[in-house]
Amino acid sequence: RRWILGLTGGIASGKTTVSNWLAAAGCAVADADEESRAVTAAGGEAMPQLEREFGRRCLRPDGSLDRRAMRRIVFSDPEARRRLEAVIHPLVRRRLIERLAGGGSAPYCVLVVPLLPSILELRPLLNRLLVVDVPESLQVERLMRRSGLSRGEALAILAAQSRRCERLEAADDVLENCGSEPELFRGLESLHERYCAMARRFMENCAA
Ligand code: ATP
Repeated sequence: RRWILGLTGGIASGKTTVSNWLAAAGCAVADADEESRAVTAAGGEAMPQLEREFGRRCLRPDGSLDRRAMRRIVFSDPEARRRLEAVIHPLVRRRLIERLAGGGSAPYCVLVVPLLPSILELRPLLNRLLVVDVPESLQVERLMRRSGLSRGEALAILAAQSRRCERLEAADDVLENCGSEPELFRGLESLHERYCAMARRFMENCAA
């Protein structure tokens, strides 16, 4: 049994920045986005089923998922979105759990899941849930800068996500990321120390 931290946050809130730091500090990190890309790559586990569900129009010539085409398909069709998620989510969940079973000598494991409903489904596996939080105005700025989007496009993406207050409500801990990266890492370092101590106690209790 491992001690598991769930990590979530809105788009461009800083999840990857935080999970990279935790990986460098020795944590075993499993990332839902990475697993989702793996199962929808050419030859990925999800591809035969996606082709059956949506036809060749959802494939690129190399056999990987055509994300842009898929986004168009599910954009105005909630039922199609549900079918897409019904294929991908169980595969991603299984791969995340397999990864956690590895993780050897890490002080604890980190499960990075951007979507709030998805991490809440995994809540029973988690010992603690950390939310990286930024005000929406800053999220829009960082999203525009990083992805070269217009303000309108960035706002539309935010509108399609869970609300900030819902994430905060689900959190055990909130890591503010509205300052510089060094400030973020200072906050993260003290959380990490607490998590290491919690994980140690947890493992001692499990052994006893
Ligand atoms: P996504 O949801 O798109 O995967 P994310 O939550 O993983 O994004 P990051 O990729 O870590 O977020 O950060 C988003 C962008 O903001 C990146 O370009 C990152 O370098 C930048 N960024 C993160 N934290 C800070 C900070 N404290 N100061 C300045 N820039 C930051």
